[in-house]
Amino acid sequence: MTRVFNFSAGPAALPEPVLRQAADEMLDWHGSGMSVMEMSHRGKEFIAIAEHAEAALRRLLAVPASHKVLFMQGGAIAENAIVPMNLLRGKAGIDFIDTGEWSRKSIKEAKKYARVNVAASAADSGYTTIPPRASWKLDPEAAYVHICSNETIGGVQYHFTPEVGTVPLVADMSSDILSRPVDLAKYGLVYAGAQKNIGPAGLTIVIVREDLLGQPHPALPSAFDYKTVADNDSMYNTPPTYAIYIAGLVFDWLERQGGLAAMEKLNRDKAALLYDYLETTHFYKAPVARDCRSWMNVPFKLADEALDAAFLKGAEAAGMVQLKGHRSVGGMRASIYNAMPAEGVRALVAYMKDFEARNG
Ligand SMILES: *Cc1c(COP(=O)(O)O)cnc(C)c1O
Repeated sequence: MTRVFNFSAGPAALPEPVLRQAADEMLDWHGSGMSVMEMSHRGKEFIAIAEHAEAALRRLLAVPASHKVLFMQGGAIAENAIVPMNLLRGKAGIDFIDTGEWSRKSIKEAKKYARVNVAASAADSGYTTIPPRASWKLDPEAAYVHICSNETIGGVQYHFTPEVGTVPLVADMSSDILSRPVDLAKYGLVYAGAQKNIGPAGLTIVIVREDLLGQPHPALPSAFDYKTVADNDSMYNTPPTYAIYIAGLVFDWLERQGGLAAMEKLNRDKAALLYDYLETTHFYKAPVARDCRSWMNVPFKLADEALDAAFLKGAEAAGMVQLKGHRSVGGMRASIYNAMPAEGVRALVAYMKDFEARNG
């Protein structure tokens, strides 16, 4: 068996010990004689699995008692509608900070339900910056302020938590949740599709301040009403049971690594290996401004695009896959989530240097 270094943006690499444990437990989970996939979501075995996953996530993220943790489905793209339908609460408008493709998708969807105010946009920089907080034109009457903490495609990431007063702060954290500690008390709601940094696709995690629940849009499907989901411990309908189980194993693995402070250090160091090298060369270019470079998704371009195909082919031959940039921006993108070991990033930098030496 050969495992590659998988730089996919998502669904992304999972920690190998998690996959091994899942393989070991596939046919018979803890003497139950069943695979987790075959269990009733209301049986004692699965309820224990779900409670364990939620408790571990709460410990890792230090989720305050004021916030509910919901295991949902539909992905972050569905949340772009589900969040406004839950959180408008009779208000007319939502403030958005536009930092790239994912915030633009959120804006477009929210326009179906609310008046949208783009309080700041990085469009003028070609989405290579985060607009400084002082430039944001927030509406004090807004239902909430929406940010995307890490733009998975453009590779820009917030390295600060914006203060937005008493208006709830909402963040799409799909691609950087669990990569570093975060002060959730400062957020009204965060959401994340699982397939970047949590587990398999199909699970969506929502962490929401409880006092924001209970005034849904009249057309909101019950299965997406946060209050209904919370009141039923995320079992109003059948949850994505296997994805929750794997997420729980990932949370255990993160705790064994030392938790999110340890992950932050590791992720910072991994990203620095790549960005520091990119600073030393003109053969490759890093488009994003230094103070908002993502530790999770590192986009870079070859100065000579004609070499792109050869770069990718050579990388694949060396066991490094999924480095092609998103079709909307081109170039390359190395996604280096929690499960990517430093060894994988070192191998990539070594390959990049070698490729430059042979083609520069
Ligand atoms: C991947 C991603 C999404 C899309 O998630 P789906 O699970 O496909 O709905 C949305 N936002 C961000 C920041 C992402 O990285």
